[in-house]
Amino acid sequence: MAEQNQNCSQFRGQPRLPKFAIPKRYDLKLKPDLAACKFAGAVQVSVDVVSDTKFLVLNAAELSVSANSVTFASANKVLEHVKVDLFEEDEILVLEFKESLPIGVGVLSLEFEGTLNDRMKGFYRSTYEHNGEKKNMAVTQFEPADARRCFPCWDEPACKATFKITLEVPSDLVALSNMPITEEKQNENLKTVYYQESPIMSTYLVAVVVGLFDYVEANTPDGINVKVYCQVGKTSQGKFALDVAVQTLGLYKQYVVCIISYIRHPKIFKWGGRNVSWLLPVPYHGCSDEMYFAVPYSLPKLDMIAIPDFAAGAMENYGLVTYRETALLYDEKHSAAANKQRVATVVAHELAHQWFGNLVTMEWWTHLWLNEGFATWVSYLAADSLFPEWKIWTQFLDECTEGLRLDGLAESHPIEVEINHASEIDEIFDAISYRKGASVIRMLQTYLGPERFQRGLASYVKRYACSNAKTEDLWSALEEESGEPVNKLMNSWTKQVGYPVISVKLKDQSLEFDQSRFLFTGSHGDGEWVVPITLCCGSYDARKNFLLQAKSETLDVKDFLSASGSSGRPWIKVNVEQTGFYRVKYDEDLSSGLRNAIERKNLSTCDRNGILDDYYSLSMSCEQSMTSLLALMSAYREEPEYIVLSNLISVMFSLFPEFTSKVAKIVADSSPELVGDVKLFFINLFQNSAERLGWDPKPLESHLDSMLRGELLVALALFGHKATLDEANKRFRIFLEDRNSPVLPPDLRRAVYVAVMQGVNKSNRSGYESLLKIYRETDLSQEKTRILGTCRDPEIIQEFLDFLLSSEVRSQDVVFGLSVSSESREIAWNWLKAKWDHLTKTYGAGFLITRFISAIVSPFSSYEKAAEAQEFFSSRMKPYIARTLKQSIERVHINATWVKSIRNDKNLPHAVKELAYRKY
Ligand SMILES: [Zn+2]
Repeated sequence: MAEQNQNCSQFRGQPRLPKFAIPKRYDLKLKPDLAACKFAGAVQVSVDVVSDTKFLVLNAAELSVSANSVTFASANKVLEHVKVDLFEEDEILVLEFKESLPIGVGVLSLEFEGTLNDRMKGFYRSTYEHNGEKKNMAVTQFEPADARRCFPCWDEPACKATFKITLEVPSDLVALSNMPITEEKQNENLKTVYYQESPIMSTYLVAVVVGLFDYVEANTPDGINVKVYCQVGKTSQGKFALDVAVQTLGLYKQYVVCIISYIRHPKIFKWGGRNVSWLLPVPYHGCSDEMYFAVPYSLPKLDMIAIPDFAAGAMENYGLVTYRETALLYDEKHSAAANKQRVATVVAHELAHQWFGNLVTMEWWTHLWLNEGFATWVSYLAADSLFPEWKIWTQFLDECTEGLRLDGLAESHPIEVEINHASEIDEIFDAISYRKGASVIRMLQTYLGPERFQRGLASYVKRYACSNAKTEDLWSALEEESGEPVNKLMNSWTKQVGYPVISVKLKDQSLEFDQSRFLFTGSHGDGEWVVPITLCCGSYDARKNFLLQAKSETLDVKDFLSASGSSGRPWIKVNVEQTGFYRVKYDEDLSSGLRNAIERKNLSTCDRNGILDDYYSLSMSCEQSMTSLLALMSAYREEPEYIVLSNLISVMFSLFPEFTSKVAKIVADSSPELVGDVKLFFINLFQNSAERLGWDPKPLESHLDSMLRGELLVALALFGHKATLDEANKRFRIFLEDRNSPVLPPDLRRAVYVAVMQGVNKSNRSGYESLLKIYRETDLSQEKTRILGTCRDPEIIQEFLDFLLSSEVRSQDVVFGLSVSSESREIAWNWLKAKWDHLTKTYGAGFLITRFISAIVSPFSSYEKAAEAQEFFSSRMKPYIARTLKQSIERVHINATWVKSIRNDKNLPHAVKELAYRKY
């Protein structure tokens, strides 16, 4: 029976490959043909056959495998295949042999061919210009599951092996891979390039880039060569990233070496010139050589390279990190402060992966967050150390906020998510894996305390280096070191979808805490979390912490209240410094106490920010009125800090399509007659800061002031502030005459471009035409995306959306142009429907296609539109858009309910008038 059923198709429909053969080493040869956009390859894989089988099952997709080339050599004999089946839908290649494969190591050989595609995944083509001529380069992007589009392989993160790569390429091109070159052989116009064999790694980390490049380089103190590659003529733009990389490698080396050495040497270390007492508890000065028993960075070189066409932000390939140009290149003259910060944090994130991901790899995509959550969290440690003036931990709140916003949807998913098909993996590279992941790590670190957390991490890294780990492996290590119930605590955050809102009431002399799942829909879902509650009362010195382990609990705060004596009731802030991943809903009295504390400047930056975000979200879920949200916002009129003002702006309005349910927009949808006064109120709120900063950068001003000026002016332009619009247009005219004029430094450009577009309509197109001209003339990707994000006007939008799909806009950048205004969203929706077939052909499966849906569908605010979108996509459903579509439709429902609740808020018109004309 069994024998007869054993045909190749028995392996179809499985989420993972069978485990009867384990790859150990790949000898891979690739020969890309850049002119014809094709490639040929040959691979010999040493595999360990561990159980009796006549089959080998591995991944392959969009490849043609030459059946004649397939052989398996083992124990001095060569086995012939009887069948070679490639199942495209399952992305597997099944090889059947005449007889059972001998147990033990054998070598599978095969040859194949493929296409250099235009979809920015697998082995693909990117284009660039050199001396006015358009050229092709060949680039790989394998994460999550696209190595199989380049060569047949066991394409799962747990199937780690070594890779010996050889490339045959045109002699005049640069050819890079994970490891250094050992030898090059010239053969007329072609050269064969041999690379050192890699240490063991997962297939998704293999990389190859072939094209024309320049580079800048530097060595780390311990001799690792670091190069930043970019297009010819742009090397000056690579220097900042190079510097960050060299310093960051040093920091991580210390960090990782130190945490690994901790078990033997429980002492303090300097990190980036500063004591890191949270890392290690007892004073110690420097790392001595005896501790270097762990290899700091495991490869002999690190290359980082800017790729003109790139779907994600960057990719941490072992030893050859690829980036979008905007995430690697920094131009002193034309890049904004925000661009600089992005380059630094992305580089720090990718280099963190060289340990968290590349050295210790997740066992399966369910544990993707272990990679991404950790890299995100660690990149903040690095940025804080290199650039303390950026106050980057206050900006970490943005990560937390975005995690909370996505996870507040019923259609969210747990951090640990089941994956049934490779096509589902793309969608989980989202705010849950990155931002919620990083946030719960920070919450745990705060709860355990830095020393115990660090000790647990040390033993985890040590135990799983060069191997794979699951989420529970990390918890076990931390539990062993700390003696705390880490497993129980963290399972409630990583295995369970969503997060709680903690309702807090003060009754007599006790605080009553009650938890339920927070949902933007306003209903309270199931679920219970083990919540590390922190609170302080009247001062940051009066604190209490406890673990909330039940639905509700009461805490006696008599001592707190009596300590405040006759000075009235003190404010009480829960979730101190916003280190917990939950929201807090206070009773009326506690809320007004906090409002006063904000006005009196008693609260820290993070706490001021957290209160605003919780309140805003509770307003969206209709648990607080719009009237009371606006009243709270008015408490921030003297707010000095960048991060809080930036959040205030993003609560009001946003240029970014993901953040659609903003106060200004929702009021426009619910009560259009109030929009003028709401805008006036917003303008008043920012008056102080705008006057303080002015238009021109001050000598030696802070990085945060530079970022804030740009964001404030964007907001004022969008609210139609006349003085801002006039000044912007004046500066724009000067800039058009003289591009080197100092009137438009990079931090102002976005605001000025937004202002210019505010004045564009059918009969006055000149601003739009001028922006297009700048777009066409610049070769700086940051400037191009800045311009794409500003065209929103209904009279231009149709033409602009078509421009987005023209050959002038790289498909990686189209999503930046989708932030349409309320007035334009119907046009954009019709456009999306008309172009859908074209878009699916261009982008195929992948996360970029999902951005079209979230940007264009989510901003609607009626149940009818939700139904219309549902109807349109029902016949076009694919696994890779399913989750995003559900989330987008849920957002439309949330908006619709919010609109209804605002219309019922009878106090709103009066309150808006009062706030708009209040004199401070
Ligand atoms: Zn990452």
